[in-house]
Amino acid sequence: MVKPKKHLGQHFLKDQNIAKDIVDALSADNEGRRILEIGPGTGVLTRFLIGKYADNLVLIDIDTESVKYLKKHFLDLNDRIVEGDFLKMNLRAVLGDEYAVIGNFPYNISSQIFFRILEERDKVIEVVCMLQEEVARRLVSPPGNKDYGILSVLLQAYYDMEYLFTVDASVFDPPPKVQSGVIKLRRNNQVKLGCDEVLFKKVVKQGFQNRRKTLRNALKPLNLPEEVKAQEILNRRAETLSVNEFVKLTNDIASGGNIKV
Ligand code: SAH
Repeated sequence: MVKPKKHLGQHFLKDQNIAKDIVDALSADNEGRRILEIGPGTGVLTRFLIGKYADNLVLIDIDTESVKYLKKHFLDLNDRIVEGDFLKMNLRAVLGDEYAVIGNFPYNISSQIFFRILEERDKVIEVVCMLQEEVARRLVSPPGNKDYGILSVLLQAYYDMEYLFTVDASVFDPPPKVQSGVIKLRRNNQVKLGCDEVLFKKVVKQGFQNRRKTLRNALKPLNLPEEVKAQEILNRRAETLSVNEFVKLTNDIASGGNIKV
């Protein structure tokens, strides 16, 4: 067996029924599409994925020992078991133009995984993943809630998000300190947001930097034009704005000029 390594966020799922439920959460239209599993570890999800998606399955894990184990147990996948860091690897050659992502993510880098997915958003059609429950709830949170944050806005701009179910720490080896949650993201048909997307990201990030401040104060470092500063919306906090309101604010800021992106 593979010895769990803490620094790689390894907590192996023991419960086969939960593994099956996670795999079953992938939408039916993924058949025929490439499926990328991030962090397969000892393959608890892989065993269920292989039934439906064998020809299209690609695995990536950073852990040499896990990769060795997987290569031994999933002979048919051979060169589609990749040893590497999802955050750094260029997977275009193996994944093509469109793919779905599944995984019991390493919790210590789940936010970074989502920033990477956002960079690849026009290829990543769907994501089904398990992560720390608290983070899972934050990502799907609607505005007007203290859980709503940078990644909630950025992801919800491009994905329809759904919280599926909670998984108890006791079904992992070793058990993590926190509960886990499974979520599903489905790419919406938003190709462009209708604003400068680089500025949008900057406004969202800056707005949440000091989430208890009004946007007027939180966005000070952006040197907003006076006519934008006078607007009512700047009396509010970032956590109360919907994606569309952030888009509108971004456009107002851009049309006011003198903002360096
Ligand atoms: N899917 C398995 C293992 C989950 S633990 C299960 O459910 O039991 C998380 C897995 O992610 C581990 O196998 C770990 O080696 C892998 N991992 C950690 N960091 C990674 C990275 N940067 N890129 C790819 N895989 C990573």
